[in-house]
Amino acid sequence: MPPMPVPVLEPRPTLAIVGEKARFPARRGFCIGRNYAAHAREMGHDPNREPPFFFMKTLEAILPVEVGIETPLPYPSGTSDYHHEVELVVALGRGGRDIAEADAMDHVFGFAVGLDMTRRDLQGEAKKLGRPWEIGKSADASGPVGPISRIGAPEFSLAGSIRLTTDGVEKQNSVLAAMIWSIPEQIAILSRYFELRAGDLIFTGTPEGVSAVDRGQVMVGSIDGLESIRLKVV
Ligand code: MN
Repeated sequence: MPPMPVPVLEPRPTLAIVGEKARFPARRGFCIGRNYAAHAREMGHDPNREPPFFFMKTLEAILPVEVGIETPLPYPSGTSDYHHEVELVVALGRGGRDIAEADAMDHVFGFAVGLDMTRRDLQGEAKKLGRPWEIGKSADASGPVGPISRIGAPEFSLAGSIRLTTDGVEKQNSVLAAMIWSIPEQIAILSRYFELRAGDLIFTGTPEGVSAVDRGQVMVGSIDGLESIRLKVV
């Protein structure tokens, strides 16, 4: 037998940028937990302003969604309770450590609609046992992200609404202003614990209305002023 070949370094997933040919190379996916009070309550938690906490999406979880394309979303193994969480994704164009809140938006390249798909049954077990969440949160392809609109694009504002439908039925509908921890706060806090890098993505949390999806269902996630994403569970 010849020796096993050394694995080839695969390119990172890249995300579309609205109106441009260039692509945005994804790096890490940081996700904040319980960042909308009504979602914290629906998950059985008191949404007082306890310090934010974060978990990760691996690079294999990042699933680029192109403009206007219905993208297949593979139903992962090991779960029978796969939940949608529609989220605003912040794409960083500049990294840094110990970033001040006042400077945080200077590190933002743009914004996209994303989903933090969750094996809720496995996440629930992990919570009960005090274990890490990644088996619930970081399934392959569990982090679809749509085309990025550059910061400053006139159509988008943090005063807009965020929604998700499954098979045309509204499941999640809230406003970005309902976030507990603001985007500058999230960036500042993360940068105390990690050296943030260009390409990092921050999933900023989901509003209430999360629910399970099955194979064959179509989810549409949308945020005012950003390209919507459309995914078919397969
Ligand atoms: Mn989430």
